[in-house]
Amino acid sequence: MGELRLNGKVAAITGGASGIGKEVALLFQRHGACVALLDRDLEKLNQAKEEIGGGVEVFCVDITDEADVQAAFSKIKTAFGKVDILVNCAGIFAPGTVTETDFVQWKRILAVNLDGAFLCSKYAAAAMLGAKSGGAIINIASEAGLAAIAGQTAYNVSKAAMISLSQCMAVDYALDSIRVNCVCPGRVLTPLVQHIIDTAENPAETLRELSSDRPVMRMGNPRDIAYACLHFADDSMPYATGAVLSVDGGYTAR
Ligand code: NAD
Repeated sequence: MGELRLNGKVAAITGGASGIGKEVALLFQRHGACVALLDRDLEKLNQAKEEIGGGVEVFCVDITDEADVQAAFSKIKTAFGKVDILVNCAGIFAPGTVTETDFVQWKRILAVNLDGAFLCSKYAAAAMLGAKSGGAIINIASEAGLAAIAGQTAYNVSKAAMISLSQCMAVDYALDSIRVNCVCPGRVLTPLVQHIIDTAENPAETLRELSSDRPVMRMGNPRDIAYACLHFADDSMPYATGAVLSVDGGYTAR
């Protein structure tokens, strides 16, 4: 590989044990970053650490638990001395219109997708402000935060709110050199989407449907999203803050 675009940087990545988060971690590590993976799944965390290689530390945390998140960022500081980059990637999905969604489910989706991103941002930004070092925060929202995809209200709302959270932080921390940007992936074949396919009544038909509802007529690849994160994480675009980047095979362009 050519240039190491994140040499000397420390990146915390939530949801880093699986799917898009793991791919982001791999790409960032290959570009010279030390990587802290935050996830609630210890077994997958350890697998990811083994797959990625050196410069990786794992933190088994539930990002909806403030004490867990606070302790994790304090341990990251001990392990690596600082945090330059946060990628809020942990997220969960469940279908349902308003009448189909029970209140517990609604609160759970918002707790992981939104509260989790809020808590991790709070402690990461505090560390960046304390060190007067600036930094980059990248939120992984979704095309579902830009367009109301039918039958998945809680998820859509959580992602729309995540876009707003990114813009709010971008405005509030602009003069502290903390850039906050948002990536809105379209459908990407990861364990999250594989689960939707596996639990469908007709998995083969569902796979066909999920692969053909957008201009490019295919699902995305975790790598596409990881590269979008790399562009926001390194120092190549210092004027980009508050940006919302669709990487969705043209889904929201129509
Ligand atoms: P994934 O299920 O493969 O990975 C998500 C990870 O988040 C898992 O390792 C899981 O253990 C972790 N996690 C969940 N709840 C957590 C919690 N409370 N605390 C800590 N960790 C927790 O999912 P993915 O497809 O890689 O999705 C990653 C992100 O991208 C999600 O925010 C998702 O909404 C978003 N996204 C995915 C797609 C897609 O099609 N895959 C599309 C748009 C957006």
